Amino acid sequence: APWPAGAAYVDGAFCPIEDARISVLDLGLTRSDGTYDVVHVRRGRFYRLGDHLDRFLAGMSALRLDPGVSRTELERILHECVARTGLEDAYVSMTCTRGRLPAGSRDLRTARHTFYCFAVPFVWIHTPEQQERGASLWISSTPRIPPESIDPRVKNYHWLDLDRAQLDAYDHGAELVVLRDAAGSITEGPGYNVFGHWDGAWHTPAEGVLAGITRRSVIELAEEGGGRVEQGPVSAERLRDASEVLVTSTAGGVMPVTTVDGRPVGSGEPGPMTVDLRRRYWARHDDPAWTTPVRRPAP
Ligand code: PMP
Repeated sequence: APWPAGAAYVDGAFCPIEDARISVLDLGLTRSDGTYDVVHVRRGRFYRLGDHLDRFLAGMSALRLDPGVSRTELERILHECVARTGLEDAYVSMTCTRGRLPAGSRDLRTARHTFYCFAVPFVWIHTPEQQERGASLWISSTPRIPPESIDPRVKNYHWLDLDRAQLDAYDHGAELVVLRDAAGSITEGPGYNVFGHWDGAWHTPAEGVLAGITRRSVIELAEEGGGRVEQGPVSAERLRDASEVLVTSTAGGVMPVTTVDGRPVGSGEPGPMTVDLRRRYWARHDDPAWTTPVRRPAP
């Protein structure tokens, strides 16, 4: 029987999500030393799985992590993990950590790296109601961790700056938050990239951010629709004056933003280009070029 609450793959074996355990000694937990990725499955199809695998493998190699799982094996495990849940819509997370050191050792070179993944019912970071009406965004004064210290292009579990900014945003009555870099330019938020529209083009930061797969999708969809996209520094002033603002993420898709720092964006309703991008993003989930059917065992 399937495991509809979720399935995990830990230590080389599949189990129901409630039974998945990792060690309290794992360096992923004690040092946040690891990388991860999250891909989603919608109506039985993985969304841009190849792009997520590329990013995850690049992250592992940047951090010198090698859990001994090949790309082909990884792909097989992810398919089986989802198949074991029986879910049509799933949130699928994969992690590789520095893992465990031999007893008594502090030499990182001797660690045995851990790989695990799980598939659970799709997690929405914005409610469907929020997605219809748009969200409020706060520009935080908490600076993002410098990219020279922790490379944001490697998806990582260093979220204390993001979480602190999110809690501050709630205090200011906002639902979403973006952080700035040391020079004051906009970077990203806890789990999403940001876009603003002005001077006839979409603008999104290029440096100091994760290369989001949803960000990439929006760039491609905007350009296919004849729009222009500029990737480069984005100032807080420009974002506050944008005619449309949106954020992008795997767990939220294309999310309209209707206020920035308490002031309405444009009319204060989700912008027409944003609504169109959001519609075309979800419509693309049946496209065989962007999605792959989950391989299910023959009945
Ligand atoms: N920035 C950060 C910090 C993230 O963690 C994420 C993903 N959770 C994103 C941006 C968006 O990336 P993607 O569109 O690939 O989900």
